[in-house]
Amino acid sequence: MSETIFDKIIRKEIPAKIAYEDEDILAFHDINPQAPLHVLVIPKRKIKAFADLEDADDELVAKLFKGASKVARELGLNAAGYRIVVNNGKHGQQTVDYIHVHII
Ligand code: AMP
Repeated sequence: MSETIFDKIIRKEIPAKIAYEDEDILAFHDINPQAPLHVLVIPKRKIKAFADLEDADDELVAKLFKGASKVARELGLNAAGYRIVVNNGKHGQQTVDYIHVHII
């Protein structure tokens, strides 16, 4: 699997504005926000894309989406609401080959 900018962010080799981190996920602010608040949530175990998810990834998916819910709650977004977006592949406008959930 080819190296991405998110691999470097996970390893703290390049800086990111971290919103939340635990042993399974990392959430950080998007460098090019599409809304007043735009955070990305990624699993620490890398999967390239939504399309690559398999049965063995059930726990990762639960942690990724439950983590995104927790991050949004802690950022105070529940009252106003927000969008959850997962882009997949070329026509889905995925630009980073590391699965990620946008909180917008
Ligand atoms: P996607 O188009 O779904 O692949 O989204 C990738 C997102 O990563 C875009 O919204 C970018 O603005 C964001 N992004 C790219 N590089 C960085 C970075 N170094 N730090 C934070 N966000 C980034």
